[in-house]
Amino acid sequence: MRRAVEAAARATRFVQDSASLAGLSKEDRSPVTVADWASQAVVSLELGTAIPLVGEEDAGALRAPASEPLRQRVVEAVSHALGRRVSADETLDAIDAGRADPCARFLTLDPVDGTKGFLRRQQYAISLALIERGTVELGVVGCPNLPDDGGDYDAADPCGCIAFAERGRGAWIQRAGAAPTRIAVAAWSASTPVRSCESVESAHSKQDLSVELLAAIGAPGTPARLDSQCKYIVVARGGADIYMRLPVKADYREKIWDHAAGALVALEAGARVCDVEGKPLDFNQGRELLRNRGVFAGHPDLVDRLVRAYAARSAG
Ligand code: AMP
Ligand code: MG
Repeated sequence: MRRAVEAAARATRFVQDSASLAGLSKEDRSPVTVADWASQAVVSLELGTAIPLVGEEDAGALRAPASEPLRQRVVEAVSHALGRRVSADETLDAIDAGRADPCARFLTLDPVDGTKGFLRRQQYAISLALIERGTVELGVVGCPNLPDDGGDYDAADPCGCIAFAERGRGAWIQRAGAAPTRIAVAAWSASTPVRSCESVESAHSKQDLSVELLAAIGAPGTPARLDSQCKYIVVARGGADIYMRLPVKADYREKIWDHAAGALVALEAGARVCDVEGKPLDFNQGRELLRNRGVFAGHPDLVDRLVRAYAARSAG
């Protein structure tokens, strides 16, 4: 799975390096879609069909005759990543092989998580998890642009990192050319300041509420903002104490591929991961976390306090 995510990162980097993202409006998502499709094709080709793949993308739009130029760019990125000439048919079929339905044992993939971050050349992630009977057993999160803690999250690191975890076996991080090292959440106590993080996009997390909750637990401050499941990784390696994702729309349901891998890495690093009501994330409900709203991931004592603060606010 790590090899597949590393290969997918070669594809997304290729797209980011070759496309001129600079002058693009947010509506012109073509580099994102090229990267999404290429990343899903690469993971699918690397892993084969032994385990059903529940990916975010399908090749429907890419098969249209008018999509020939886009198709060419996807094929180029896939061929670059795999170091061999891959045909258009092979690419399209590989993408669509990632449209399985959740079942007893399956992989779930977000080929480019944090599309807005990808467009801004900031943070995005390639997220792949193995789910068995509703339990996340393995998680790999490629973070191609993520700097070390203390670096600027708004800039693209030239190396990035890959984080991974196996249930019961801890969480690990690897930077290019280095050996993997074990990671753990930071020690936190009520007397230390809270280092928090949240989405860049205010449509994805209620940002005024995060400030309010921090104040309510006596730890005033504003969260650092970065896109994608990189937030889980920053918490897992001790670079922040808490990731808050506070529901904006009552009817929005989180997607499994937006959380499965990142949540396992954080959990195995010693974090408590739950929704805003304190319930564990339930990956046994199909493509969406139907029984959960929002996310807290961080030091267990801090999560406890925030869950209580959220409940008090909702009751009040
Ligand atoms: P982030 O980079 O953490 O802001 O999360 C990016 C993910 O947010 C995308 O992959 C979307 O699936 C997801 N998303 C889209 N709409 C919403 C929403 N209304 N609330 C929460 N997450 C959303
Ligand atoms: Mg996503």
